[in-house]
Amino acid sequence: VFVALEGGEGGGKSTQSGLLASWLTERGHQVLVTREPGGTPVGSQLRRIVLDPATGALNSRTEALIYAADKAEHVEALVLPALAAGQVVLTDRYVDSTLAYQGAGRAIDVQELEHVARWATADLRPHLTVVLDIDPVVGLARAGEPDRIEAEPLAFHRRVREHFLRLAAADPDHYLVVDADRPAEQVQADIRGALTPWLSR
Ligand code: C5P
Repeated sequence: VFVALEGGEGGGKSTQSGLLASWLTERGHQVLVTREPGGTPVGSQLRRIVLDPATGALNSRTEALIYAADKAEHVEALVLPALAAGQVVLTDRYVDSTLAYQGAGRAIDVQELEHVARWATADLRPHLTVVLDIDPVVGLARAGEPDRIEAEPLAFHRRVREHFLRLAAADPDHYLVVDADRPAEQVQADIRGALTPWLSR
């Protein structure tokens, strides 16, 4: 089972994926917890390039291709082998982050971007995508020291949020939108509830 956690900054994606991993492990599942950008050794280097404020301005297409390269490596080296071994894969961000940040945020054509992202990931799609929805004013305040993307203006983050919600609304069978501005245990309970049917298929 392949699960993606998505949403803006400060929604608690890593907290939720940690809680979910413990729960799944207790239930006897083997779990891979991973993230984009990052995940693989090459991905960690790419992550540094795109997030370090010292990188400065990057051409939007360059940035989008760096994220795509991270995805290609991530899916091939980590996600597909784990799924083939029967593990539950929890990824902190996936293709939807690209559509939201590089598409809606940077105003790159979303369809073109989607082609690139689908190519990079061999069209591997999550069974369930959880959108941890939070007002960017609240989320950014929680997130602490801003990286290169978090430093973007509020309007950028609002476009990103709206795009996640649009993607979820278009495919309700594969998405769960949760209000992330609540105690972590409540958010977690909603996620477990939505994931349960997928675990028995
Ligand atoms: O949530 P996390 O710290 O993993 O995200 C890293 C940063 O990368 C965030 O600032 C996020 O906005 C950015 N990002 C992005 N486009 C992606 C994936 C992540 O701008 N496709």
